[in-house]
Amino acid sequence: IALLTAHALFESHSNIKAFSGNKVSVVLGAQWGDEGKGKVVDLLATESDLVCRCQGGNNAGHTVVVDEKEYDFHLLPSGIINTKCTSFIGNGVVIHLPGLFEEIDKNEKKGIFLVVENTYNEIIIKVHLFVSVFDFHQAVDGLQELQRQAQEGQNIGTTKKGIGPTYACKASRTGLRICDLMADFSEFSSRVKNLVLQYQSMFPALKVEVESELKKLKDYAERIRPLVRDGVYFMYDAIHGSPKKILAEGANAALLDIDFGTYPFVTSSNCTVGGVCTGLGIPPANIGDVYGVSKAYTTRVGIGAFPTEQLNAVGELLQTRGHEVGVTTGRKRRCGWLDLVILKYAHMINGFTAIALTKLDILDVLDEIKVGVAYKINGKRIPYFPANMEVLQKVEVEYEMFSGWKTDTSAARKWNDLPPKAQNYIRFVENHIGVPIKWVGVGKSRECMIQMF
Ligand code: GDP
Repeated sequence: IALLTAHALFESHSNIKAFSGNKVSVVLGAQWGDEGKGKVVDLLATESDLVCRCQGGNNAGHTVVVDEKEYDFHLLPSGIINTKCTSFIGNGVVIHLPGLFEEIDKNEKKGIFLVVENTYNEIIIKVHLFVSVFDFHQAVDGLQELQRQAQEGQNIGTTKKGIGPTYACKASRTGLRICDLMADFSEFSSRVKNLVLQYQSMFPALKVEVESELKKLKDYAERIRPLVRDGVYFMYDAIHGSPKKILAEGANAALLDIDFGTYPFVTSSNCTVGGVCTGLGIPPANIGDVYGVSKAYTTRVGIGAFPTEQLNAVGELLQTRGHEVGVTTGRKRRCGWLDLVILKYAHMINGFTAIALTKLDILDVLDEIKVGVAYKINGKRIPYFPANMEVLQKVEVEYEMFSGWKTDTSAARKWNDLPPKAQNYIRFVENHIGVPIKWVGVGKSRECMIQMF
C-alpha cells in the first residue's frame, strides 16, 4: 500500500516542474580579508540588477575607486555606486543603525543618493532576522578585549565595532532584530533594558545611557522603516521573477570564518559560501558562480598565526607599496608571500568557479618572488591546513621561487601586455590551486583589471 501510495503521489505531482530560477553569483575573500573584494564586486555590479550583503557588519571595509573618486563602504553593498542596481542587506548581517546612517550621509556628500521605492540607488534593508548592534555592544567589545589582554596577555584584535557581542547575543537568543524594532516599541525597550542589565552584571564598569539610546533608536526606526521588507519573500521574488543578475558580496574572508578560519582569531560569522544561503535565505541550488578574491601576496590584520609572514624588508616593501592599512581601523596589515595552502583550503570549502588575483602590480619591483606551496612539521609535509593555532604557528613553509619581472604592470590591460615572468607566476598559481584565474588586478581603479576570459 505504501508503495502504491508513493507511486500515486509521484504520478499526481509529476507534472509540477521544478523551476530553478535566477542564480546568485558570489564574491568571497579567499585569504584573511582586504583582498580587494570591493573592486571585484564593483566590476560585476555594473551589470547586476541586485547586489546583496549577507554577513558581517561595519567591521568590514571595502574600497572602490571610480573616476579617481574613492568610496569606502562598511555596511552598504559596494554595488550602491551603480544607479541601476538595487542594494540588499540580508538577515545574516548585523547592523549598527547610527553607523548605517552615517555611511549613507557620507556617501550622499559624494553624490550617491538613496531613493526608496524606485530603482535609483535603492537600498532594501531586508531584516526579517536582523540582529541589531547597539552602542553598548561596542562598549562590551572593548571591555572584552581589555579583559582578554589582562587575563591571557593578548586580545583578538577585533575592530571594537560590537560585531562579536552582537552575534553572541544572536546565538544566546537575547538579540534584537529589526523586525522587533519595527513592532511594539515598548516591548523592544524592555528587552533592550534587560539586555543592558545582563551586560552590567557581567561588566560592572559598563555605563549605558539607556533612555537616550532608546530615544535615538526610535528616531532611527522611523528613518529605516520605509526600507524594511521581509528578506525571504524579497529574495524568492528576485530569484523566481524576471531574469536578473544577482550578486552576493561576502565580507571578511575564508580564514576569518567562525567555523573554518584560524579560530579564535576570526570574525563571528560565516564568510564562506554557506553564509550566503543562511545570510540571504536562499537555497544552495540558486548559488551560481563563486568567485574567490586573493591578493598576489598575503596580508593579515591583528594577531594570529601567519605562516608566510615576512618580518623583514620584503614584508615592509609589500606593506608600503601595497598601502596595507586597514580601511576600518587604520591598523598596519602584516604582509607575506602568497600562500597556496590557504587558497586550496578556501577552495575546498567554497568550490570557487574562478579567482580574481589582485595587486599583482605591488610585486613589480621584486628581484625574487616566493610562493608557499606546502607546510611541514619536523621536516615532514602535512597534507592539510592545521585547525589548531599552536600547530599552525609551528609549521615551516615550503616555497617555490620565481624570478621577478621587474617591469611596471600598472598599464597592462590584457594578458599579452603582461611580462612573460608575470604570466608564468599567474599560471603557476592557477595550476596549483586548480581554479582558473579570471581577473588580474594591476592597480586601484576600475579599469586596472585584466579579464582573462
Ligand atoms: P576588500 O575589503 O576586500 O574590498 O579590500 P580593501 O578595500 O580593504 O583593500 C583592498 C585595497 O587594495 C584597496 O585600497 C583597493 O583600492 C586596493 N586594490 C584593489 N585591487 C588592487 C590592485 O589590483 N592593485 C592595487 N595596487 N591596489 C588594489
